[in-house]
Amino acid sequence: MKRIGVMTSGGDSPGMNACVRAVVRTGLARGLEVYGIFRGYEGMIAGEIEPLKANSVSNILQKGGTVLKTARSEAFKTVEGRVRAAEQLKMHGIEGLVVIGGDGSFRGAMALEAEHGIRCMGCPGTIDNDLYGTDNTIGYDTAVNTVVQAVDKIRDTANSHDRLFIVEVMGRDAGFIALRSGIATGAEAVLIPETVTYIPELIDLLERGWQRNKSSAIVIVAEGDDAGGAYQVAEKVKEKFNRYDIRVTVLGHLQRGGSPSALDRILASRMGHGAVDALLAGRTSEMVGVVNNNITYTPFDKATKHHMEVSPYLLELVQVLSS
Ligand code: ADP
Repeated sequence: MKRIGVMTSGGDSPGMNACVRAVVRTGLARGLEVYGIFRGYEGMIAGEIEPLKANSVSNILQKGGTVLKTARSEAFKTVEGRVRAAEQLKMHGIEGLVVIGGDGSFRGAMALEAEHGIRCMGCPGTIDNDLYGTDNTIGYDTAVNTVVQAVDKIRDTANSHDRLFIVEVMGRDAGFIALRSGIATGAEAVLIPETVTYIPELIDLLERGWQRNKSSAIVIVAEGDDAGGAYQVAEKVKEKFNRYDIRVTVLGHLQRGGSPSALDRILASRMGHGAVDALLAGRTSEMVGVVNNNITYTPFDKATKHHMEVSPYLLELVQVLSS
């Protein structure tokens, strides 16, 4: 293998740039040529492909977003789209690919490998931490830190006014951001898609807090919770509970941006480095992960089909520590 490509795809996450840098610098250190594919699969089809040198990735380690840009591509989901994408890769002499993205991006890489024999390794870049085969995904730690900073500020105003804040965080299918930030901010309750939410139980808990003179309460809701988003939860709580003035904050896209945390920079650097070495060792169609501090490789079909389980221990921790 002489030439590899690197791309970012799907939703962006902080630390993607650190991963791109690691792929480029490791590739060059191993004597490979490294090409950047811009705007995900959409740019691959359009031939937006350029050689990257060591200094092409200078000063990006600490930046949020992705310098390679990212996109979603309907065309790539079709057989013809992937034929055009593979033609571009072949025209540029690219024999191996590192895809930094989420489960959709890995499903795309799987199809590219199966249909056109392009060797692909994946690095999990998503704030949601919803992939099987790694303890953390790139961007998750930064997103949790962003939520924690925001909720700390909300807590100040909640305390001053005796308010209940329902804070919505990202996580359509996974409650990892909600759970971790809930522990770190001392949230009174965390509502996540993995468990069934009972509003009467939530109200009981809030009532007990009020009886114990709690001057504020924070409930963190993952956007995909079965009770609905923060506004719906607030409506349902309001019907039966009026001890506090209730306010809603939806944190939204600010959770995706910002300079990556040290943890995400290190994770991304290790994963990018690991992906290049895996390609050189002949591996393909696998996601690089870090489990118990060791680099691991998980086949794409497994990484995309399964979720890491939400830890009952962490759920209990929220309940006990906020009581
Ligand atoms: P993420 O990688 O963050 O999960 P998406 O689910 O949007 O983001 O996937 C990114 C891109 O990957 C899609 O726009 C599409 O081009 C490609 N993709 C997703 N699923 C498939 C699939 N089943 N087959 C081929 N390509 C896919």
